[in-house]
Amino acid sequence: MVIYFMCSAGGPMIDMDLKKAKIKKYVCKDCGKKFKVLSGKPKCPECKSADIDQQ
Ligand SMILES: [Zn+2]
Repeated sequence: MVIYFMCSAGGPMIDMDLKKAKIKKYVCKDCGKKFKVLSGKPKCPECKSADIDQQ
């Protein structure tokens, strides 16, 4: 039995962590997918494209 407590429960705690870390929002130019990146080189999670815009 697997419990995904990181994904389902503990939402508020994760939200606070994200605000502290100053996440950046990006939108993929190829497929229009919007996603957030904490650090490192952002890539579209949908199509793996690196052709993205920061919002
Ligand atoms: Zn994409």
